[in-house]
Amino acid sequence: MYDEAVDNPAWPELQEAQRSVLIDLLIHGSRSRAELARRSGLSRASLTRLTRSLIDLGLVSEGDTRPLAGRGRPSELLELRPGSAHFVGFKLTGDAVYVALTDLSASVLHSEEHALGSRDVDSVVGLMADIVASLRVAYPRISAVGVCLAGDVQISRGRTFIVGSAFLGWDEVPLAELVQIATGLPTAIANDVQSLTAAHHWFGAGVGYRSMALIGFGAGIGCGVVVNDELVDGSHGHPGRVGHLTVRSDGPLCDKGHPGCVASYVTDDAIIQNSGVEGATYADVVGLAKSGHPQSVVAFQEAAEALAVAVAHVVNLLDVEVVIVTGEGLAVVDLAGAEFESMLRRRRDPEGIDTNVVFPSFNFVDYARAAAIGAVRLVV
Ligand SMILES: [Zn+2]
Repeated sequence: MYDEAVDNPAWPELQEAQRSVLIDLLIHGSRSRAELARRSGLSRASLTRLTRSLIDLGLVSEGDTRPLAGRGRPSELLELRPGSAHFVGFKLTGDAVYVALTDLSASVLHSEEHALGSRDVDSVVGLMADIVASLRVAYPRISAVGVCLAGDVQISRGRTFIVGSAFLGWDEVPLAELVQIATGLPTAIANDVQSLTAAHHWFGAGVGYRSMALIGFGAGIGCGVVVNDELVDGSHGHPGRVGHLTVRSDGPLCDKGHPGCVASYVTDDAIIQNSGVEGATYADVVGLAKSGHPQSVVAFQEAAEALAVAVAHVVNLLDVEVVIVTGEGLAVVDLAGAEFESMLRRRRDPEGIDTNVVFPSFNFVDYARAAAIGAVRLVV
């Protein structure tokens, strides 16, 4: 984030202990005072003072009482007040911005999308600031902004830069700083797959797992990793580069010139290319494959095999509990699930334990919601 203090009337300054109780309630839902005391290690008296302060700030409320097993008086449940703050998340692609407005519990209350008139940084930042300003009319307690996009997030001398965002043609853009200045709100910036991974870990298909990986694919392919309940940042902000693993050394060339790598089969553009249909869109090729056009069918089967190679590598390397496969490319799994399964079996280490692979449905708003969750994580 941009580290200069922001005057943010919509979000109070919190102490570390207040934040940790709030995060506990965010991720796990309601908790009794007794549970919170046990989990935080605070005395009941300290916890009572702390929860009183969160109640006074309007972030938490007291709910029902829960009878305790055995002896002892019943313990009140504390719960989050989801409407006490709102967050705006943006997912930028090369030609559109997807917007999600969430409450504190990450429920999407409103979403919209806009075409990008221009990829010029100032124009895109200006569009995001206009959207925040118009949402503030109905949601005056917007407390932070999150943005995610394909590209690397690097921190240099305390400033955050977007590096190598190929779809937008951006390099070394101090995006968090620019959005923060334009909106007046604290701003979190993340790589889109990293952002979606963290969102699934807290609120989606990864809830309850201490180790998981997420493969997001469509226009590109990337992988995010959670180990021991922590999102792995890598040393340079972008782990999980599975796109250029070799599937077959005699395959088509990817945009970087590798023969037969994962990207040369699995991305939307690769599938269009491999279908051999001049001027087709991705949706056209999906339609052709469904109607049995032989080369389109094969393009999807090979894409599914390439996806399986990426999943198998992740499973072999990390031994995670679950792999979440999602993104705008999911038609690959619908059209060629058998090829995916068969290649996964062949490329997984034979000594490994079967890993659960799940395919939650996908919408671009999911990325925008993930960016909003990044904004929640920034302030909480
Ligand atoms: Zn490649």
